[in-house]
Amino acid sequence: MIMVALGLGTKRHWHIFIAIIAGAIVGAWWPYNALHPSFAHQTFDIIGQVFIRLIAMLAIPLIISSLTIGISSLGDGRQLGKIGGKTLFLFLLGMFIASGIAAAVGYYTQPGLRFPHELIVGSGITPLLSGDIKPIEGFKDLLLNHLIPQNPFGSLAQRDLVPVIVFTVIFGAALGSIGDTARPVVAFFEAVFAATMKVVDWVMIFAVLGIFSLTFTAVSHEGIQLLTHMLPFMGAVVFALLMMILVVYPIALFVLARVNFMDLYRAISEAILVGFGTASSSATLPVTLACMERRGGVSNRIASFVLPAGVSMNMNGTTMFEVISVMFLAQLYGIPLPMQTIFTIMLLAIMASIGAAGVPSAGMITMSLILNGIGGFRPEQVAAGLSLLWAVDRILDMCRTTLNVMDDCVVAVIVAAGEGELNRELLSAGESWDEVI
Ligand code: ASP
Repeated sequence: MIMVALGLGTKRHWHIFIAIIAGAIVGAWWPYNALHPSFAHQTFDIIGQVFIRLIAMLAIPLIISSLTIGISSLGDGRQLGKIGGKTLFLFLLGMFIASGIAAAVGYYTQPGLRFPHELIVGSGITPLLSGDIKPIEGFKDLLLNHLIPQNPFGSLAQRDLVPVIVFTVIFGAALGSIGDTARPVVAFFEAVFAATMKVVDWVMIFAVLGIFSLTFTAVSHEGIQLLTHMLPFMGAVVFALLMMILVVYPIALFVLARVNFMDLYRAISEAILVGFGTASSSATLPVTLACMERRGGVSNRIASFVLPAGVSMNMNGTTMFEVISVMFLAQLYGIPLPMQTIFTIMLLAIMASIGAAGVPSAGMITMSLILNGIGGFRPEQVAAGLSLLWAVDRILDMCRTTLNVMDDCVVAVIVAAGEGELNRELLSAGESWDEVI
């Protein structure tokens, strides 16, 4: 199976694994000396930051183009409206359940309190897109200053992502409802998306060096204990993801589509593996489509609508990661988490994951939206906290992307079953499946 992924060009991913391990070993062996920082420490710090910035600069074009394409593809026709409505409902329901489970896991496992306090200050990596931290003061403030943009370009320039997403959703819906007239604009965004993805490819060429530098910098600044101290947090995220895979999806598939989850998981095993290997649900999309049509028994009409829309909008794994990460940081810095704040984190995490493109580390980038939204963090806390998360992001990205790929397939099967467009014989006939890749 691993060779299947390797054959698809995900080999770089295993290089990245080696880079993480090498960065951790070299960093632990060669600690940072704040009084006399070596040339190597300074250089790797800069390389790591350049790498993060190269990814961060792609966030806005990716979010806008992928959301516009996804929303406008819902179209205006009645049939499309019906399928679109059902799909959107299932996407939102899934993300709502995911955020609730993640909040419960974050609340009961308290990963932030298990992290030694003395290790959290003074990390060298600066945050992305953090903007100014403005606490929300009531509903009017939320609506007028944080949600509805007066000038979407002003919000863009201030890297204020929530109003940008609100505008893009409304604009995308309008494009979907004006028919062929919208084609040039949608084609424009398709080109923006494709070109930005190309830049992602280019940036990822430096991923090995970038990730090595980040891990080296984090570990040499903080020591190898950093990674071991992050284990409770990582365990909480993985536990929450497994709850969806082993409990929520099996129940949803059985109740809403009368499908045995093992049949579906076997049908999409290549997509799961490629998702894990690339940490990019967009890059996995061609494999996911092939698995669902040739093995999952989902009609082309449903698969080609639900899966691409899901790649840009439906990310249960990212939602869970963001909820637990923000709760982790709040616990770390002693920021109180009353029910109201947890609920705000859940809602903002749903928005932030809708806004995250299906590319590596996108969830880390859009997370600043939640930190901005709930407020209370000082800028240096955001900087130090995010650098802790960056140090372990790669592994968690692989895990959450796997869930992001699976949740689209679950929704596609449920929608297809509801429309009478699910070939059940094919789905349960593992022996006769074609090769997908
Ligand atoms: N890497 C994820 C994906 O492609 C997005 C994220 O960073 O959460 O689905």
